[in-house]
Amino acid sequence: SLEVKTDIEIAQQCIMKPIDEIAAQLNLEKDDWEPYGKFKAKISLDVLDRLHNKQDGKVILVTAISPTPAGEGKSTVTVGLGQGLSKIGKKSMIALREPSLGPCMGIKGGAAGGGYSQVVPMEDINLHFTGDFHAITTAHNALAAFLDNHIHQGNSLDIDVRRVTWKRVVDLNDRALRQVVIGLGGPIQGVPRESGFDITVASEIMAILCLANSLKDLKERISKIVVAYDYEQKPVTVKDLEVEGALTLLLKDALKPNLVQTLENTPAIIHGGPFANIAHGCNSIIATKMAAKLSDYVVTEAGFGADLGAEKFLNIKARYANLKPNLVVVVATIRALKMHGGVPKDELKQENLEALERGMENLRKHIETIKAFGLPLVVAVNRFITDTDAEVELLQKLCENEGTDAVLTEVWAKGGEGAVDLAEKVVSLIDEKENNFNYLYPLSTTIQNKIETIAKTVYGASMVEFTIKAKNQMLQFEEEGWGKLPVCMAKTQYSLSDDPNKLGRPEGFTITVRELRPSIGAGFIVALTGDVMTMPGLPKQPAALKMDVSENGKALGLF
Ligand code: ADP
Repeated sequence: SLEVKTDIEIAQQCIMKPIDEIAAQLNLEKDDWEPYGKFKAKISLDVLDRLHNKQDGKVILVTAISPTPAGEGKSTVTVGLGQGLSKIGKKSMIALREPSLGPCMGIKGGAAGGGYSQVVPMEDINLHFTGDFHAITTAHNALAAFLDNHIHQGNSLDIDVRRVTWKRVVDLNDRALRQVVIGLGGPIQGVPRESGFDITVASEIMAILCLANSLKDLKERISKIVVAYDYEQKPVTVKDLEVEGALTLLLKDALKPNLVQTLENTPAIIHGGPFANIAHGCNSIIATKMAAKLSDYVVTEAGFGADLGAEKFLNIKARYANLKPNLVVVVATIRALKMHGGVPKDELKQENLEALERGMENLRKHIETIKAFGLPLVVAVNRFITDTDAEVELLQKLCENEGTDAVLTEVWAKGGEGAVDLAEKVVSLIDEKENNFNYLYPLSTTIQNKIETIAKTVYGASMVEFTIKAKNQMLQFEEEGWGKLPVCMAKTQYSLSDDPNKLGRPEGFTITVRELRPSIGAGFIVALTGDVMTMPGLPKQPAALKMDVSENGKALGLF
């Protein structure tokens, strides 16, 4: 009988190389990095300066079809492709987000790839890692404390306590903290006001850390954060509170990218992890740039489907990083496409060519989107054991009809070996195909135009409706001088539309923009098209119930 090992079993059986060997593999010099234990290191930002004139490696962006509960495996394919590129003799690296602890204890149980394509040490990566998230949490909450102290000490900035937008954060799923009242207990305990908590990955400081190009840039962005409005409804910023220096100090080490390895000892940088709805959902600019300096091929990932993750990677991150991606890999699974074609979750194991063909509509839209950015692409079919040969063949044929290669990958079951075909295809497409990368909109156009361009070109919407509130905010934001920032769309990941139940490729729909939020420090305007959860809750049976640690300190129950 076939014994299937769990992710953590595979990860714990891996023989990791000491991190100095990984650093040596990258030609890093002694002062270029500092160890964080045996298997993790932080890379100095000086390396970017030292290698300034060195040509960058190719950047490969991994994205996917619209996610379904059937699973897509973007991280797994990202890690597997990095390993596959190493297998065919290329100097490759992986750049990924760091998982958040809240969802890990909730439903996810861990997020560092899967099967034989994982980053390790997976326990560390999923738990406290190198402390970056704790530093971000602390910097965020320090700002909240400085703000409340300012109000308590006389409020010389005339902050309207009913209009404080800066909340507190914790890296847990804790619904009881969503709305709180602080400052109770009389005059010595501060000024009472309503507030709340978000999860750390939703912090604007997380987004800022991931979009900063240097320590100086980090400080400038932090100084621009809008924390509240005064009695004349003018924005109050970190600069007004004069604490940008202290906050940047708290983040000086967190800004350095973290070096680890995959199960097959391919070097990987895991750094930053902003939400993919109210933020842009990719690892830090510094991580991607560093990986591009240290290798010839970087494989990196963006959250959710191509309508959200890739769109934001290309319109926001690539723009701030001044980075031109070389190729996009769109991950698709037969199971998920069948769900987009109308098959319920419990019937996905049965072959169903008609449903696959209907579900192809979703993939087709994402392919069109990548083409609209002028980028070459390849579809990676992430194979599950239940996929039939006829289904795989049909999917490849349907992609061929779009003029797109679809390569079967078996990275979950076989590691890098399962991505050799994909790696070879990636290398040849980068060499052969034209790359006409362009942003979908210029920054100079209005907020309204930017949103309409994304909704029509990327989602396939026929119209965008703005609520009165959103319209007033657009006017106000343009007046504040925020109109030239890119837009960060917050939309359900499950559908191309703003209705999570519309799978496949919905048509003729309207996107409703309900509200805008200024993330001026991060450098984007968030457009909310629905309710966005910035503090998740735990399920009835959290993954934490199965977690434990053995008497000799071995982690159990992460997956
Ligand atoms: P994403 O990055 O799209 O959220 P992940 O790569 O984290 O997805 O994978 C989600 C889960 O699915 C992981 O537990 C992983 O082990 C599992 N998985 C991914 N690909 C496969 C596959 N081909 N067969 C079986 N399980 C897979």
